[in-house]
Amino acid sequence: MEEIYTFAGNPLDRISQRRQDAAWIASLLDDPETRLLPFRELKPVVRDPSATTLDWQPVAPWRAAIDSGKTLVLLGIGEGRAYFALDANGVPAANGVEEATADVRGLATAIPGPEAAILAEARSALDWHARHGFCAQCGTASAISSGGWGRRCPNCRAHHYPRVDPVVIMLAVRGERCLLGRNRRRVGTRYSCLAGFMETGETIEEAVRREVLEESGICVGRVRYLASQPWPFPSTLMMGLLAEAVSEEIRIDPEELAEARWFERDEVRAMVERSRTDDPIPGLATLPPPLAIGHQLARRWAFGVDTI
Ligand SMILES: [Zn+2]
Repeated sequence: MEEIYTFAGNPLDRISQRRQDAAWIASLLDDPETRLLPFRELKPVVRDPSATTLDWQPVAPWRAAIDSGKTLVLLGIGEGRAYFALDANGVPAANGVEEATADVRGLATAIPGPEAAILAEARSALDWHARHGFCAQCGTASAISSGGWGRRCPNCRAHHYPRVDPVVIMLAVRGERCLLGRNRRRVGTRYSCLAGFMETGETIEEAVRREVLEESGICVGRVRYLASQPWPFPSTLMMGLLAEAVSEEIRIDPEELAEARWFERDEVRAMVERSRTDDPIPGLATLPPPLAIGHQLARRWAFGVDTI
C-alpha cells in the first residue's frame, strides 16, 4: 500500500491544461466562491490565535493587490471551488485588522494533511517567483504567465517554469543492519538516512551510489524506490530509496558527516519510538521526526515493511 507523508496527498485538481486560458482564470477570480490564501514572507495568514487554521479568504478584498501585479498562483480546483495563493508582501491586510502569519514547517503537522500539501504547493511556487523575476537567458524583467505556473520574457520570449530540485534520500542496508549518519552541522545524537541532490546526467540509482560512496565510503549494489515527498524549503522532491550495501568498512566524508555507523534493526526500532516524542531522552540516538521521509524509510525497514 502506498504511504502518504507530510506535504504529499494534495487533493486539488491542478487543471494544468487550462492554465493558459486567461479568460477562464479571470472568471474564477470573479466567482464569490473562490478562495485565496495570502502569504507574507512566505508564511500564510492564519485565522485563530493558536495558528492552526489557514485563513482562506474571498478574492474581492484583494482585487487591488492582484491588479497591481502581486504574484498570484492558481493552486487548483477542489469540490467545485478554485483556490489561489497570493504573495501579499507590502499589501495592507484586507480587513484592516492585524493579521497573524505562521511558519509552514510549524503548520505542517498542525493542520490536516491535505491542507499541508496545498501549503507546500503554494509556498514553493511563491518562493520561486520571488527569486526569479528576471529572465535567465537575457536578464530582462519577466512577467508571470499560465495562472502562476510560468514566467515569460517580453524581450527574448523565453518561457521559464518553477523548478523542482530532486534529492535522493536512502537507507543503505546490509543484512540485519542499516547505515545512518550524523550531520556535521547538527549537534546532538540525531542520525538519519544519507541524502544528496541529484546532478545532471545522472539516474536515480547512480545518484544513490555516488552519494553513499562519497559520504560513507560504502559501495551500493541494488537500489529500490519506496516513496517520495515534496519538501517546500524551498522546492525539493525527496525521493526515498532502499539501497543494498555491498561493502562494510565506513570512511566518512568529514565535510558532510560527523559520524556514520551501522545500526541493528532493534536499535532502529527504539530510535523510531523515541523520535515520535518532542522531548527525547538526552544522549540516546534518535531519528528525524515522523514529518521527515528519512524517519519513515528507517521505520519501514526496521519494522519489516520493506526489504531490499
Ligand atoms: Zn529573455
